[in-house]
Amino acid sequence: MSIMHIALLCSGGDAPGMNCAIRAVVRTALFNGLQVTGIKRGYAGLLKGEFHPMNLSSVGNIIQRGGTILQTSRSPEFMKPEGRIKAVEILRAQGINALIVIGGDGSFNGAKALWDEHQFPVVGIPGTIDNDISGTEYTIGFETAVETAIEAVDRIRDTAHSHARTFLVEVMGRNSSAIALKVGVCTGAENVLLPHDKVNHQKIVDDIQRGMARGKESSIIIVAEGPVAGRSYEIQKVLKEKYKLDAHVAILGHIQRGGSPMADDRFIASQMGHLAVQTIMEKNYPTVTVVKNGKVTLATLEDCTQKADYNFIEFQKLAQTLSI
Ligand code: ADP
Repeated sequence: MSIMHIALLCSGGDAPGMNCAIRAVVRTALFNGLQVTGIKRGYAGLLKGEFHPMNLSSVGNIIQRGGTILQTSRSPEFMKPEGRIKAVEILRAQGINALIVIGGDGSFNGAKALWDEHQFPVVGIPGTIDNDISGTEYTIGFETAVETAIEAVDRIRDTAHSHARTFLVEVMGRNSSAIALKVGVCTGAENVLLPHDKVNHQKIVDDIQRGMARGKESSIIIVAEGPVAGRSYEIQKVLKEKYKLDAHVAILGHIQRGGSPMADDRFIASQMGHLAVQTIMEKNYPTVTVVKNGKVTLATLEDCTQKADYNFIEFQKLAQTLSI
């Protein structure tokens, strides 16, 4: 009987901890006598045949590194059925029996199409700083991104306090509220503006003035970026023109994606990578490694192909209450 051969790729946005998952997949596969191939640059690299055999040393000294050694991409070609026919032909020609996809809900939709259209065995590992995939409480990279943003906001608070200023700090997450809410609570922000909130400028101004009246020296408003980064400038403009309130804008941007993964991301990614290989060995696909009730376990791929915004509105209220 031929040796089982698995491939893995990263797709969509990168996230700190992806390397820990790659390491866990490769080491678990080799420990169990499987052959393992890394595909560079996601589905685009798959279509170009960017295949790299992985050995024990291929994943040495990467557990602490942000980003992904396999690199990642977005592939319009793979969105089309013809692209996926080509992808499956390439995978089968390489003798690959199963594919592990590390990415977000978009990447999982691509994996699902491979299964639905070609019954190609796939297992997903959720990797995105946005923590916005249905079916899992956690996605690799979230905690590290939150920690990075908290550190940045703490620094901004120092200067805001020294100059008695108001800052609008915009954090990543597109339509996801997860980063903004956690950062807001953890930095003592005066308010958190969620991606689809209609901005209540009057309330922002009232809250700031109430704080100043009791001697507050600074105010931080955390702004979730929403579909298009930079919405803070629009809010700043209205505050200035309509309410004569000067606010400074800090957009944290891509620094939130990079950096060495925190313990939680390393720990969960290691477990997920390990479980993904075991799952393939048991021929239990199409599945996704997820966190449920705080434990790493499996869900169906079907359950993990939607965007989920755990819009914990209570955390917005919590931030406001605690910073009164
Ligand atoms: P993420 O995985 O982080 O959500 P994207 O949504 O950009 O990132 O998806 C990454 C890639 O997955 C896309 O560039 C595309 O190649 C593939 N993909 C996304 N959605 C689909 C889909 N519905 N069908 C097939 N492939 C998809």
